[in-house]
Amino acid sequence: MRDWPLWTLRRPALAYWLAVDAAALAVVAWIVVVGPQPTSEEITRFAAIAGTAGAVVVGSSLFSERMGESTRNPWAAHLCYLTAGIVALPPNLLVLLLFGPALHGVLTQRPESHRWIFTLSASALAVFGTRLVAGWTAPTDDLFRMILCATALLTLRAALVVVGLRLRTPGSALEDTVGEPIDVVLGVVAVSLGGLMGCVAVSDPVHALIAGPPMALLERAAQLPQWRRSAQRDAKTGLANSVHWDARARFDLAKAAERNRPMAVMLLDLDHFKRVNDQLGHLAGDAALAGIAALLRSTVRRGDLVGRFGGEEFVVLLPDTEPAAARAAAQRVRHAVSTVIVPTVTTDGRDHLLSGLTVSIGVATTDRFGYELPDLLVAADSALLAAKGCGRNLVEMA
Ligand code: GH3
Ligand code: MG
Ligand code: MG
Repeated sequence: MRDWPLWTLRRPALAYWLAVDAAALAVVAWIVVVGPQPTSEEITRFAAIAGTAGAVVVGSSLFSERMGESTRNPWAAHLCYLTAGIVALPPNLLVLLLFGPALHGVLTQRPESHRWIFTLSASALAVFGTRLVAGWTAPTDDLFRMILCATALLTLRAALVVVGLRLRTPGSALEDTVGEPIDVVLGVVAVSLGGLMGCVAVSDPVHALIAGPPMALLERAAQLPQWRRSAQRDAKTGLANSVHWDARARFDLAKAAERNRPMAVMLLDLDHFKRVNDQLGHLAGDAALAGIAALLRSTVRRGDLVGRFGGEEFVVLLPDTEPAAARAAAQRVRHAVSTVIVPTVTTDGRDHLLSGLTVSIGVATTDRFGYELPDLLVAADSALLAAKGCGRNLVEMA
């Protein structure tokens, strides 16, 4: 228990996460103790909603497994049937529906169990908070109020989770905590479909089955952001891959050209990297590349576009950057690489702290070479060659 990763949280985050967990546990316990016996009609509704949701989630994960896709969290489907439960079920049966996301957390291998307990608790509080708004004993069937309730559910859940994540990692990017705009759209679709599912389940439980196919489609659609991200990222380093970097860089350069804003391109090549592979093995070389990529991202500004250009070459587009600032940024990166220590494992399985890496950097600016990406890359590349020629571990301006 002492080595639980939970205790590594910063103190305000730890207090908040435990408070959310405790509040959810107290609410659920209270509902289970005081809740009246459900009627047989309510139990039939529960069976229709839970059965449909179960078939979709299990069916979809079996399909993914057969296709060799990585395991994932069917959060949109969970959100959908929980909303249906808010509309159509008494609170104690709603507690049973929460077993859906809970079981998912137990059955799939999760690296951070405290994190799924926290998000599950946040979902439980959001669900029962929304139920309070909808009418605790007799939830509304008024469409307008239902939409308000669905909005409350989404906002409440997002707010509880975002506060927790922000306390855990202050200054984290909004995209990492709230998700991308497409995640918000998927959330809206999930609660809308769930609301409709709840409404039809109230009139006739069997009609809840109709929500199955759209829920399955939603479940697949919820993977789109992940698929897009993996198509844009380089698997080894997590940076933008060269195709995505190229497209984004051209777009940003065109915008900067319209506004006449200065930009710079920085091309980096690790020095004598072949030696790392030869001496420690390719896996250690890969770990070093991942370490340098992380270092690069944390050394430049958040708005700078970092990509893996090829092998052990990286590229950074620096918006709103005058030549002097670009040189200073490159020197900062060069210095950071020369002092970094990357944990690696050698071919014979020994842990090895790799240090003494250096990088050569060529920098080209729009001031001298204009806003066409090929021109900037050619110029940065010849500056990089010059840096190599002058002895490496250097920054050269084109
Ligand atoms: P220098 O740039 O200083 O001239 O020497 P270098 O040894 O780094 O030479 P170069 O840039 O030409 O060679 C790149 C080497 O990087 C070749 C290859 O062994 C290694 N490399 C390229 N991509 C990868 C990769 O994905 N993983 C690993 N482990 N090594 C890679
Ligand atoms: Mg190279
Ligand atoms: Mg090299």
